[in-house]
Amino acid sequence: MRLKTPYTNLQKGREDGADSMIEIVLATSNPHKVDEINSVSMPLGVKFTLPDKGFNPIEDGTTFEENAYAKALAAAQCEKSGRKYFMADDSGLCVDFLNGAPGLKSARYAPSTEKRIEKLLNALKDVKDAHRGAKFVCSLVLADKMGKILNKTFGICKGTIAHKECGQGGFGYDPIFIVENKNMTMAQLSEDEKNLVSHRGRALMDMLMWIKCSDLK
Ligand code: IMP
Repeated sequence: MRLKTPYTNLQKGREDGADSMIEIVLATSNPHKVDEINSVSMPLGVKFTLPDKGFNPIEDGTTFEENAYAKALAAAQCEKSGRKYFMADDSGLCVDFLNGAPGLKSARYAPSTEKRIEKLLNALKDVKDAHRGAKFVCSLVLADKMGKILNKTFGICKGTIAHKECGQGGFGYDPIFIVENKNMTMAQLSEDEKNLVSHRGRALMDMLMWIKCSDLK
């Protein structure tokens, strides 16, 4: 007997011709993030596009979920093209030894990616491998034009912080995050491999499953 994965079920919906591409605004100004998410979602019939001009969210929430919702709402409020659904992710890196920092402040931990990595490596300078545990977390919120939350999901990717940068792929803290059970940094994984194990990939797969089972059009 062949086991059906959730993924094969999702693809089946498209093969049957039962549905067409659903467009969702991804509340971000980072085209790299749109590309990363579309590489997973497009084969499943969901296409993400950038918000209209004027997207300027204020991320002052006390949780990843609050920030994700603020971004989704901001994208809905500046929508002029008639798109109906707005999804936002808020993610970050939580380091055990730093009591969860940089966490919500991952993007603002230092002025540039290079400086953020340098600051984190310095903060863990004399810390032994056993105490370098960390996790990437991602909260996803899907809302409609009125700001009503349609669904939310959460993903985690566990790992440890390396002693130096390794790998060219991905973005942000990827070159110093060694993925649990992989013995490689996130930046050494291919885009497909990253999508399978990453916090965002996991939260996204749950969200896509929900979207495909919903009556969103
Ligand atoms: P955002 O909420 O997805 O914009 O993420 C906030 C910050 O967390 C980013 O600017 C990165 O520094 C870090 N971050 C989030 N996701 C990732 C990832 O997949 N790889 C590396 N860094 C990430």
